[in-house]
Amino acid sequence: MTLHDPSSGLTIDADFECGSAGEIRRTGPCAYEADPLPETVPDWFLEALQRHFAGAGVPREYACAVRVTSSAPERRTVTLRFVFSKTKGKSYMRPPYWVYREPRWRPLPASATAFVRDSHVDLTFDLAPGESVRVANKPYRTPAEVAGEMEDLTSASGLFSVRELGRTAQGRPILALESGAREETIVIGATMQPAEPASRPVLAVAHYLTSRSDLAARLLDRFRFAFLPLPNPDGAAGGRSVTNALGEVPMFSFGRLIAGQPAPLETKAIWNYMTALRPAAYVEFHTHYQAHTAHKLNPLSLDWFPPERHDLVKRADAALTALNAEWRMTPIERGMPLEDTGKFTNLALHFQTLAYCYQIYAVTEEATYAHAVEVVSALAQALAGPEWIAQKKPPRIVKG
Ligand SMILES: [Zn+2]
Repeated sequence: MTLHDPSSGLTIDADFECGSAGEIRRTGPCAYEADPLPETVPDWFLEALQRHFAGAGVPREYACAVRVTSSAPERRTVTLRFVFSKTKGKSYMRPPYWVYREPRWRPLPASATAFVRDSHVDLTFDLAPGESVRVANKPYRTPAEVAGEMEDLTSASGLFSVRELGRTAQGRPILALESGAREETIVIGATMQPAEPASRPVLAVAHYLTSRSDLAARLLDRFRFAFLPLPNPDGAAGGRSVTNALGEVPMFSFGRLIAGQPAPLETKAIWNYMTALRPAAYVEFHTHYQAHTAHKLNPLSLDWFPPERHDLVKRADAALTALNAEWRMTPIERGMPLEDTGKFTNLALHFQTLAYCYQIYAVTEEATYAHAVEVVSALAQALAGPEWIAQKKPPRIVKG
């Protein structure tokens, strides 16, 4: 929707790619508030949440992103309130909030942010005459920006190619970036929750692999890497938190797809790709751009794997665990509610894939990228094993 305020010359709207808001109201001079975009989930899913988690299991309605445009002749100081969802999504709304001014997203300082837990946040910022900014709870990237970055990586490095895995209901391509074929593949994916935008951290790992460091070059030689930076592009473009454009929940529909039930196009495209790759490892990043809590890992418990994989699983678990001094960690165990809906357990059951859900809690985009690189580097080296690590050759040095 669009709200034009003739008294201030300001216009607030969410009608752009990745825009996300429900009703927008004027509450005073240069003061506005926006409701969350209503997000309904399928009946089967709601029933499952009610049964297992008293309706509170999965956050939704935790994206917010509006554009504020000034046609005023002088500078305006704007106060913008984002009202939080009544659903569990409200617990994901901690600062910082972000402002996009050409050419980049920047976090709003704490002095401009008044956060009231479970209720709302008030943000204060200035707008120059004629200026237009986007204000959001995360540094969202449009599908075109993500596709452009994949193209750049491909053409600049000569190491990758882009593969279209399928199309969404709104006709957007679901794209993978992959390096050359090897015996074993590591897949690095973004969550299918657009409110945790992980496309750039996922692609940061691809950037790292082109860095020409000894380790990066050796890893590229040892594994095929496949990247899924935007597995729910309609949801991202539509400002959804967990659903796609049809109100389906692609990330929780893998069990249904495998059982032969109707499933979202995104789920099908990703699962078909996994079936073709049979990856040795899969890591999925959920990125929060917050630092109020520790990084979080959901490894699969050992009994998802056949005994001959146990040493490898333990080695990979240990390598990831060693990354942080503080953790939140809950293994995904057999018999947990909804354990069969997502891709992690199904990857282990069908392809013996070491599958990890990794939630990064670092504020800046750059810190999040760096951590994603550390995670994949640690996982890949653990998978390659100590003998492979020991095969590192001494550097060749010429005068220069
Ligand atoms: Zn998540």
